[in-house]
Amino acid sequence: MRITEIAVGEIAIPLKTPFKTALRTVERMQDLIVRIRLDSGETGYGEAPPTAVITGETLTSILAAIREYLAPAIRGMSFDHPGEVWERMDRVLAKNTSAKAAVDIAVHDAWARAQGKPLFRLLNRDGTEKTELETDLTISLNEAETMARDAEKAVRDGFRILKVKVGRGGREDVERVCRVRDAAGADTVLRIDANQGWSPEEAVRTIRMMEDAGLAIELVEQPVSCHNFKGMQYVTAHVETPILADESVFSPEDAERLIEDRGADLINIKLMKTGGIYPAQKISKMAEEAGIGCMMGCMLESAVSVSAGAHLAAASPIIRYCDLDGPSLCAENPYTGGPLYEGARIRMTETPGIGIDHVPVRFETV
Ligand code: MG
Repeated sequence: MRITEIAVGEIAIPLKTPFKTALRTVERMQDLIVRIRLDSGETGYGEAPPTAVITGETLTSILAAIREYLAPAIRGMSFDHPGEVWERMDRVLAKNTSAKAAVDIAVHDAWARAQGKPLFRLLNRDGTEKTELETDLTISLNEAETMARDAEKAVRDGFRILKVKVGRGGREDVERVCRVRDAAGADTVLRIDANQGWSPEEAVRTIRMMEDAGLAIELVEQPVSCHNFKGMQYVTAHVETPILADESVFSPEDAERLIEDRGADLINIKLMKTGGIYPAQKISKMAEEAGIGCMMGCMLESAVSVSAGAHLAAASPIIRYCDLDGPSLCAENPYTGGPLYEGARIRMTETPGIGIDHVPVRFETV
């Protein structure tokens, strides 16, 4: 198959409530959408959000990366497997992972549509794919009382797993999680994400306080700075609760080091960090060999790229945790088709490709 056209456009979707972490506050989603057309007439869609605080990319930089580097490199290219397109992109642009991810997702979508198969069935060749996933819902970082109220509502809305944002201060964070635990009840699974907000000593102290208080935390995500590998090792070695690396792992090379030197117990794979499905699948295969569990995560993304993540999660047995709540945070769904987001449940469908077939964006060919 041959890539005949690459087009881009923007989509803006209001959020139900502002999204707050230790790193940022966001009021609405504003993402770049990519459309790829093949010579067979099939199209594929991809998406990239501007997560400057994590990937260093803005809407302008993502657009420039696609327009000036990625599109000229792959326009007219023939390929059998999307990995060939990804390798070509990686040769002309070193980082810019979200820009690459948007194009890679669109290529995977078109590739699967051209074969008439849903993407998750093509990514898993041994019949171990899942047809249903369960996502957590993020509880934004706020005053303890607000977080308790949000948790109560999430449980009422059918979410059994909550991802609680912390990382503003050890003792206050313990208070936040205590209040959330009280509000959510004993049957709710709580995972927490400090988004690099603690020092290593503070992390160990805080996590131990939560352990002693019997808060039953399933896992702690990215307790310390992504640059502090020794700090991640220190925390992982000194607490009982499993540590999940997020901002510390972008590439398969990062994952390899983390697995070899036990920088964490678990890895959070996000397409916007890896640069798309192709390198993300490499990480999941490495993790599978090492017996390291993975989470499929997302940034503030809508259903195009989150659905791509869902397809990979459905295809990979080692991806045991899903944090694919982007569409649940949106006040509206502008698309039709794709996996079905029914509260905490994500049901895969048999529609070819990623499955999204109506993308109301004004596209411009690049
Ligand atoms: Mg995280």
